Amino acid sequence: EHPACPGTDATVADLAPLLPVVGHETLAPLVDGRRVPYANLDVAASAPALQAVADRITRTLPLYASVHRGAGYLSQVSTSLYEAARRTIGAFVGAREDDATLIVRNTTDALNLLAGCLPTSDDGAPGRVLVLDVEHHANFLPWQRGADATVLTGRATAAETVVALRDELTAGATSGRPYALLALTGASNVTGEVLPVADIVAAAHAVGTRVLLDGAQLVPHRRFSLAGTGVDYLAFSGHKTYAPFGAGVLVGRRDWLDAGTPYLAGGGAVRSVRVDGTEWHDGPARHEAGSPNVLGAVALAAACEALADVDGETLREHENVLRGRLVAGLETIDGVEIVRLWPDAADAVGVVTFTVDGYEPGHVAAYLSAEHGVGVRDGRFCAHPLLSRLGYGAGAVRSSVGVGTAGEEVERLVAAVRTLVTEGP
Ligand code: PLP
Repeated sequence: EHPACPGTDATVADLAPLLPVVGHETLAPLVDGRRVPYANLDVAASAPALQAVADRITRTLPLYASVHRGAGYLSQVSTSLYEAARRTIGAFVGAREDDATLIVRNTTDALNLLAGCLPTSDDGAPGRVLVLDVEHHANFLPWQRGADATVLTGRATAAETVVALRDELTAGATSGRPYALLALTGASNVTGEVLPVADIVAAAHAVGTRVLLDGAQLVPHRRFSLAGTGVDYLAFSGHKTYAPFGAGVLVGRRDWLDAGTPYLAGGGAVRSVRVDGTEWHDGPARHEAGSPNVLGAVALAAACEALADVDGETLREHENVLRGRLVAGLETIDGVEIVRLWPDAADAVGVVTFTVDGYEPGHVAAYLSAEHGVGVRDGRFCAHPLLSRLGYGAGAVRSSVGVGTAGEEVERLVAAVRTLVTEGP
């Protein structure tokens, strides 16, 4: 049975379709000679797969065959499963009718793919891209390598950051070298905080700049719509969206993708190959050479369907309550500091990062795991520029919650940190 979540019991029942496949007790570590249910508070790194996803994989395994490879019965079935998964995933994130939905490996893959399709400026120079210094490296390094990237320092508030973005986009346009793309995180993987995306999109579109949203931390936790927000490109990962590793998504406007160099050269991406020339496909196939990850796509589509089955507000409320308890509990402990980026952010997904005075983050994480059966992440979260700017160059501890997290688990984390501070390890 799913552990109760005090204060949100009703919503836990509502979230029942989203139960994780692995019961916490299965992973129980030995603490002081007794088994303690494992509390996975590292959902932001990889979210446990849902039972609905596991069931879909089991049903799909007998139909396993190579797609787009001819008229054989299984190949036909696999092809239609793969293409149906693509449509389901695109619909889940509100793709527009003429958007392309590409199945890739993960968010990193999606962003590298898009970087390779960025149009050059009018003078033939690499296209200009604007990024904030708050980004995960996956939404930072591809632009540094493949584009003419400008890194804007985030401001102390969300409101000031939006103004700074708008000013920089306008300055680019008036200088005659407009930004082709603004690459922005949907939710910070360090603090969970969210910027007002629709406002930023309006400012970018006003000067002819497209917007890519890194949805790795947003899509699993909030209802998101490309059509509704006007975002041009969206990337996210299956393994953070309650499906297994290996499948991720890039969705967005076709023209850049169809004009870009194929991401992988190989079978499936071509209409015809001659010794003296090749005719490439357009559409998703152009960038999906090689035998695609049918099971990964089907699993991710199952996760999207399960998430869509649950009321978005219920999901948000469940995670908000848990996040609120983490913040409220940790704030009362002497020497604990919560990492904050934009105190005025209108929303934040279930990520709370903190430091404990006098303890290395790695030490805190090891203590929580070994002594209390609580799994968290420590380090710099692939966001080195941000952690350095905020003064956490030595790293921090990140806790994160999701659909299967129970109130008892976040209370256990808070109590464990209190014990560490008051009694020592
Ligand atoms: N973007 C953000 C905001 C993330 O949190 C992560 C993963 O932690 C990524 C990108 C990279 O995701 P992946 O490792 O699945 O490519």
